Amino acid sequence: LRVISKAQELALTLDSERAIGRKIGLVPTMGALHLGHRSLIERAVSECDVVVVTVFVNPLQFGDASDLAAYPRDLGTDLVVSEEAGASIVFAPSIEEMYPSFPDPPCTTVHVAGLTDVLEGASRPGHFDGVATVVTKLFALAGRCRAYFGEKDFQQLAVVRRLAADLSLPVDVVGCPTIREPDGLALSSRNARLTPSERLASGVLHQAIEAGLDAVRAGERWPRIVNAAMAKILGGEPLVALDYAVAVDAETFETPHELAGNVRLLIAATVGEVRLIDNEGATAPGSQEPVLAGHGTNKTNKRES
Ligand code: AMP
Repeated sequence: LRVISKAQELALTLDSERAIGRKIGLVPTMGALHLGHRSLIERAVSECDVVVVTVFVNPLQFGDASDLAAYPRDLGTDLVVSEEAGASIVFAPSIEEMYPSFPDPPCTTVHVAGLTDVLEGASRPGHFDGVATVVTKLFALAGRCRAYFGEKDFQQLAVVRRLAADLSLPVDVVGCPTIREPDGLALSSRNARLTPSERLASGVLHQAIEAGLDAVRAGERWPRIVNAAMAKILGGEPLVALDYAVAVDAETFETPHELAGNVRLLIAATVGEVRLIDNEGATAPGSQEPVLAGHGTNKTNKRES
């Protein structure tokens, strides 16, 4: 495993690997690697010749200085996990290496319009600009490659796909399934900050998503009914404060009038001081089906949150 901290060294190394015909896989992370990250690295290793894990806690995507300061960091363990999973390179730059003007922001940032106005974008202003900017820089340094992102951050995955397409970047963006704890909690570096009772309570996020999925699969077509089913489960857990629990169109992230086709259920909630997100996809039955008795008056397009 080679550890690189300089941006130009990474770019030149990957250029020479490509020159001898090797395919590059890129796994961008903020470190504190867990089995969710490991699954991305293993997927990349199975599809590429040279896999680079990037470990960089990106200050641009944190609105809150205390959240940035509290973010877990453990490069030693990250190197072990990356090597065990089969990565060839870990790119771990300093903040100054990525942003020479830091703490002043770079003059050029990347904004993906539309997709970033809602949900995580609405709750965390500027967050996706920070993500889009660092991912664009990593794609520029890596050059032609396949880049692996988790569906756990489903809106982020959509933002990254969008920027790669809109900016004609030579990167195939690959979405990978969410890895979960036995009680359904999505693995996250932030889970380490939960107290034991908060950790226990956090299982309710996945239970709420399951309740929403059950409703969609049973033919529920009104988003607000599905949203209410999820909110009800979350409301039963006093340690969990709901931010949003919504059923949206999986491509546009808009609330459709009626659920049809590819639907995504997304939840964000705060447990203690820790903000957690989760999501799952479902295919809604076609909208040509008859309206269920008793639901005919619920034709509002409002999002419960
Ligand atoms: P992060 O270090 O949290 O920025 O995450 C780095 C990458 O790992 C992102 O593409 C995440 O979506 C992905 N990831 C994080 N948690 C999981 C998980 N539980 N399952 C699958 N992918 C994940």
